This record gives sequence, C-alpha cells and structure tokens, in this order.
Amino acid sequence: MNNTDFSSLGLHVDLVKNILSLGYSKMTPIQAQTLPDILKGSDVIGEGKTGSGKTAAFSLGILNKLDVKNFRIQSLVLCPTRELADQVASEVRKIGRTIHNIKVLSLCGGAPFGPQKGSLKHGAHIIVGTPGCILEHINKGNLALSYVSMFVLDEADRMLDMGFQPAVSSIVKHLPTNRQTLLFTATFSDDATVISSKIMKDPKIIRA
Ligand code: AMP
Repeated sequence: MNNTDFSSLGLHVDLVKNILSLGYSKMTPIQAQTLPDILKGSDVIGEGKTGSGKTAAFSLGILNKLDVKNFRIQSLVLCPTRELADQVASEVRKIGRTIHNIKVLSLCGGAPFGPQKGSLKHGAHIIVGTPGCILEHINKGNLALSYVSMFVLDEADRMLDMGFQPAVSSIVKHLPTNRQTLLFTATFSDDATVISSKIMKDPKIIRA
C-alpha cells in the first residue's frame, strides 16, 4: 500500500472495492492530493483540467459522506453546462453503484421543467445541475437545500466566464453555512479567487 492506493484513504470498503472494479487501480495526482483533505472535511480548491480525475475526487468525497437512509438533498454540484452535468451525474452514479437506493438527479436548462419538478417531489440525495436551472427551481419553491453538507463547484473558471457568478452567489445564500465546499478549476483566475474567498472557509489550495 502506498499513498496512491485508494485503500490508504480510509474510505468505506464498498467504495474502494467498486472503484477498483472500475479499473481505477491508483489515484491520479489530483485525487492523491485533494482526497485526504476532502475526507477530513476541509474546504478544498483543486486546480485540475478535464481528464485529471477531478470528478472521481469530489464524487468520492460526496459518497463517503452520504447517509443514504436520510432521504434529503445532502450534496449539490454546480457545473457550467448540461453536458458536463450529465457526465458528472453518471460518474457519481457509477462510483456509487454499490450504495442501495441512492438517488442522483440532474437538473439542467434545456430539459423540460415539469418532469424535473416531478422528480424533485420524489426526493434525491445528490443534485447535479447548472446554476440558472438550480436557481429557478429554488425560486419556484421546488428545491430546499437546508440539509446540504457538501457543495461543489466544478469547472468554476468556465462557470464564471459564462456569467454565472450572480446565480452562484444567490444559490449560496440558500445553503447552510456549516457545509463543506469544494471548488475545481482548470485555471486560477482572479474571479475564481474572489468567489472562493466569499464562499469558502480557509480552503486548502491544491495545484496538481
Ligand atoms: P475527469 O477528469 O473527471 O473528467 O476524469 C477523466 C477520466 O478518468 C474519466 O473517464 C474517469 O472515469 C477516469 N478516471 C478517474 N479517476 C481514475 C483513476 N484513478 N484511474 C483510472 N481512471 C480514472
């Protein structure tokens, strides 16, 4: 065992077995560098591009913390685009496939609003979506976030470039202050630094 073995992290045994069965035999650099702090409960800023394995890093953080018997929204992941949100939701489902009755819901613009509202009525543990769509559901009273303990901003630099800062700030107002916040970005822009200082607590900064 060394520090790139998933088994060195103290993750739930089923999660380790499953990621090994997916062929993830060793942690990627961003996983090895962020997961110890993520699993400790710290806020973390990770610099990582698509392909670095960042999605599995935050997915493991979300899933290791999840209490599946508590059928409430415990994690919220914001992504800049529908395509990325769908990819993230499928990676979370894949990594969490051994957890019975887990419900991951994707909420994005461009998809019909009514069925999304119906799915929300049935409840979920993890929501993955784009900021505009998430905010619309909050404002219409479909989405209550008061039990969220993990908030993730994926591709934060792209989200800010696309003008989502006001929506992100409005969403954050609906989250508990004692949550854990993770931010992944391909580049450290000034905007990313500014938003992280507003929404994160003493984040560990990891440049993988
Ligand atoms: P991402 O950077 O999150 O878009 O991930 C890139 C790809 O790497 C995805 O297809 C993952 O399924 C895969 N992946 C993530 N972590 C590992 C790992 N530790 N070993 C092998 N493949 C991985």
